[in-house]
Amino acid sequence: MRLSELKTGQKAYITKVNGSGAFRKRILEMGFVRGQEVRSILNAPLKDPIKYEIMEYEVSLRRSEAVMVEISVLASDARGLTDLSEQLPEEEGLQNGHPLLYTGNGQGNGAAHTEKNIRVALVGNPNAGKTSIFNLASGAHEHVGNYSGVTVNSKEGRLTHNGYTFTLTDLPGTYSLSAYTPEELYVRKHILEEKPDVIVNVVSASALERNLYLTTELIDLEVPVVIALNMYDELEQSGRTFDHKTFSELINIPMVPTVGKRGEGIPQLLERVIDLYQQSEHTHVQVPYGRVPEKSIAIMERELAVTDTPRWKMPLRYVGIKLLEGDKEMERQVRQLPEQEKILARRDKERAYMEKLLREDPESAFTNARYGFIAGGLKETLSEKIHFTDNTKLIDTLVTHKYLGFPLFFLFLWVMFEATFRLGGYPMAAIEWLVGQLGNLVRGHMAAGPLKDLIVDGVIGGVGGVIVFLPNIVILYLFIAFMEDSGYMARAAFIMDKVMHCIGLHGKSFIPLIMGFGCNVPAIMATRTIESRSSRMITMFIVPFMSCSARLPVYILFVSAFFPSSGSLILLGLYAFGILIAALTARLFRNTLFKEEETPFVMELPPYRMPTLKSVTTHMWDRSRQYLQKMGGPILMGSIIIWFLGYFPYNQERETAFDKQIEQAEMQLAAGRISESQLEESISGIEHLRNTEHQVNSYIGRIGHFMEPVMRPLGFDWKISVSLLSGMAAKEIVISTMGVLYTGDSEDQQSLQQRLQTESHADGKPVFTPLVITGFLLFVLIYFPCIATIIAIREESHSWGWALFSVFYSTGLAWLVAFLVFQVGSLLM
Ligand code: GDP
Ligand code: MG
Repeated sequence: MRLSELKTGQKAYITKVNGSGAFRKRILEMGFVRGQEVRSILNAPLKDPIKYEIMEYEVSLRRSEAVMVEISVLASDARGLTDLSEQLPEEEGLQNGHPLLYTGNGQGNGAAHTEKNIRVALVGNPNAGKTSIFNLASGAHEHVGNYSGVTVNSKEGRLTHNGYTFTLTDLPGTYSLSAYTPEELYVRKHILEEKPDVIVNVVSASALERNLYLTTELIDLEVPVVIALNMYDELEQSGRTFDHKTFSELINIPMVPTVGKRGEGIPQLLERVIDLYQQSEHTHVQVPYGRVPEKSIAIMERELAVTDTPRWKMPLRYVGIKLLEGDKEMERQVRQLPEQEKILARRDKERAYMEKLLREDPESAFTNARYGFIAGGLKETLSEKIHFTDNTKLIDTLVTHKYLGFPLFFLFLWVMFEATFRLGGYPMAAIEWLVGQLGNLVRGHMAAGPLKDLIVDGVIGGVGGVIVFLPNIVILYLFIAFMEDSGYMARAAFIMDKVMHCIGLHGKSFIPLIMGFGCNVPAIMATRTIESRSSRMITMFIVPFMSCSARLPVYILFVSAFFPSSGSLILLGLYAFGILIAALTARLFRNTLFKEEETPFVMELPPYRMPTLKSVTTHMWDRSRQYLQKMGGPILMGSIIIWFLGYFPYNQERETAFDKQIEQAEMQLAAGRISESQLEESISGIEHLRNTEHQVNSYIGRIGHFMEPVMRPLGFDWKISVSLLSGMAAKEIVISTMGVLYTGDSEDQQSLQQRLQTESHADGKPVFTPLVITGFLLFVLIYFPCIATIIAIREESHSWGWALFSVFYSTGLAWLVAFLVFQVGSLLM
């Protein structure tokens, strides 16, 4: 029987996992090993994927993947995990009465450390609480989230405790150290090359069995490890007991219970780290792989020992195990040796031998043995669950419900946008008023001249126009932080998988896409959690169509100036259009540029956790700070540059000519030939002309006119074109540029909205017609978000070519869409 045939609510035992490569490896590591009990919990609203419970945690699989797993409803059919005692190597290792203990130098350098600086790396499964511990220990503000893949690159932090300085590195979460995903490779490299003094293995006590799998790999590496038994509160709440002292002795690794989100146990953890650091000699256990594999390992070790041994920065036993497991990265390293042929031939022979004797491929044999080792240890030490108050199950029956799942999800998104737009409107008005007051104050108190113009129009006008959107950004991030922290994000990926599948992607791609609504840069970095390169590349290209929060100010400005009553609807429409473009692009790329297979949908669904107020507010504060920094840096620079380009060259003759005209008008008033109001009218006419003349002749005017032939078919005037161009640096600059360019005619400080509303062509027709606004907003939506995003794409794709491709593709598409809107619209109207 296949796992996919298992009815909802039923349980069965795994007998075999078929398939190959990354999928098979991943699914084995996630605990789908022979004899393991598995339960089908529910189907996603679109019937696919399916959520299973295994080893006390929840994981989702696509139907097409569940087919690969063979099951039996009878426990006896699934020969259980190999018994530990039968597996012990014969005569070796009976030291200190401990059956598995070895004295090795592993990574230890033999001498006790005397320096007071300890380098510690945090290693563990996604969601085990590494970042929480990292933050609490080092006082950093890294982003925690109840979703795998929140930490995508390593972060360093420092702290002191008991006179020692600790340099902590927060590494991305991994389920194992095989070389299938970039994270796994990254973590393995970090451990082997950076050689941290001590590794803190953060283990979630609420899913011990699976979490300890990674620990067995660390044991193989023979590195100094301390285990942080995190989420200890959850273990206690479920009413179980875990005799961690005994277990700790069995694996010979110190274990310290911690509660990462409250900081409990961290001082004790650091003290254990110091203890381990001071030890001159490390003893370590060996995971017993059973007679047959052990024999092959020994042979491989002997084979490897003739090579240039010191070049292996890891134990030969580990190299042997990885080779036998078919690890590609290890094979690549061996291929660089002169003895490569002999070693690899031997490896193939041993693999064949193992397969014949064990009637199971070496990959499963090793995984089974590791899980067998863990299960053996836990059998004696971990008691059964008592309390089954499972909120997670309850919430999940609602949010992944057949009929309610999607409506609830879209309701959530709607509330998110509504709050961003409406709620954000109040503080926004207040900030706008303040900026206006500040402008008037400076205007009233400074002597006329270029400096005054620079400060009022360039600095206050430019930066002020952008700063008013801070509240919107804060609110949007509040929602995204909540979604990530609670665990709902993973459910979004779960219910969206079938839909994403239609555009050739994976539910996991959905998360970077959602994050893209916040900022495209971290979103593009988040694509690292997608295993397959082709899916990752496609996701990277479509992330920019997810309208980021920097574009929001532009929309809000125009929507509130021109269509105030249907604001939310238009916003939602824009976002939806971006999604549509993304979907079409994904399909197009999947069918042309990236045709290869996609990756499996093996994804952990973490239990719901109430986000702590602290983590949500930290996240929000961080974003606001980043936004303000952007304000002070690039946006200020951008506004000043744009102002300069717009102000110069300064034509004294022309200015004097206009001044004369005004003087003449005033004289006419004095002579009684015109009335007070007539004077005002003519002055404002003259000022308007002066402004237009000036801008047209300025550098920016010249750039704009240069672009005009390209932009004219879209109905954009040169000011719009220049604003769009300046938005390359950051989208908010579109607004600050408009703030500088659309100075308005009146002497009072008008808000930018008012200025845009009254802006007209020379013939008196308004510049911003509904068609132009639609085209403009779509252009802003579609063309590439900012230089930072392009740099992120280059970093993640390792290619300038793809980064430039993204620029041209998105800008070309933006132009085409705006062109169609304007031309077709003009025909119809
Ligand atoms: P990482 O992926 O390993 O970096 O994990 P995070 O630090 O991002 O934490 C994952 C989730 O677990 C977050 O929602 C944390 O608030 C939560 N969390 C962390 N430590 C604990 C803990 O000890 N107990 C409980 N109940 N939750 C925790
Ligand atoms: Mg993290």
